[in-house]
Amino acid sequence: MSNQNEQALRAEIVQVGKLLYDRSLIVATDGNISARLADNTILITPSGLCKGLMSPDQLIVIDLDGRKVGPGTQANQHLKPTSETAMHLEAYKQRPDVLSVVHAHPPYAITLSMVGITLAECMLPEAIMFLGLTPTTPYSTPASQENAAAIRKAIVGHDAILLQRHGSLTVGNSPLNAYYRTETLEQVARITYMLNQLGGAQTLPPFQVEKLLKIRQEMDLGRAADEADFCEICGVCHIDGQHTKTESENQNGSEVDLVRSITERVIQELQK
Ligand SMILES: [Zn+2]
Repeated sequence: MSNQNEQALRAEIVQVGKLLYDRSLIVATDGNISARLADNTILITPSGLCKGLMSPDQLIVIDLDGRKVGPGTQANQHLKPTSETAMHLEAYKQRPDVLSVVHAHPPYAITLSMVGITLAECMLPEAIMFLGLTPTTPYSTPASQENAAAIRKAIVGHDAILLQRHGSLTVGNSPLNAYYRTETLEQVARITYMLNQLGGAQTLPPFQVEKLLKIRQEMDLGRAADEADFCEICGVCHIDGQHTKTESENQNGSEVDLVRSITERVIQELQK
C-alpha cells in the first residue's frame, strides 16, 4: 500500500474515532480502531488517548504479532498500541478478507447483553442484510488475551459481534464500513430495547427473511455462519427449495417457536 493510501487510512481512522465519540458509542479513552495495510502490517489506535481527539500521526503501525514496526512518527514515539490489540489481530488472522476492525462500547447493546436479551433475531431488514445475525460472546476480561479467544470462533462467520458486558466488535473492508456496522448494531439494540418496553414484536416470517438473504448475497455480504444462523434462529432452511423449519427442529423448539412457526405459515398462505 502506498504512503498515500496509508495517509488516507490514517485520516479515515481519525474520522471514525470522532464519529464514535460524538455519537457516544465510546466515552473517555474507550474503544479502538485498526486497518490492514498492503504489506499485512496493521495501522492501529494508541492506548490511553481519547479517540475523538486523535491526530493521524498518533496512529501506530504494528505487525501481526503486535510489535511496533516502521520508523513511527514523532507524535507516536511514546505511545503504545491499544490494550485490545490481541482481539484486533485475531480478527485479521481468522479473516483474510477483513481490512478494518472497530471496537466500541455502545450503551444499548451492552445493556441488553447484561440482561440476556439477544440481538440475533430476524427483526429488522437492514440489520439482516448488513449484519446478519449478531452473536453474543460469553463475558471475558476487557484488554486481555481472553478477548481474542472469546471472538475466535464467532468472527469466522460474522461481521458484528456483541461482547457480553463490554461492547461491540465489527469488521469491514474499510474503517468507515466497519464503523457503519457498529452504528447499525447499536440501532438494532436501541430498537430492541424500545420494543421490550412495549412488550416485544413478532419476528419477520421466513419467506420475508429469505428475500433479504438473497439481497445480502447479491451485495456480496453473505458470511460463513448465515446458513446455520438463519436456519436455526429464523426458520429459513434450504431443503428441496422449501424454506420452512424441519420437523425435528419444530419438535425440538419451544412452544413459543411452534406458535410462531404456525403463525408465520398462516401469514405466508394469506399473502400468496
Ligand atoms: Zn473495550
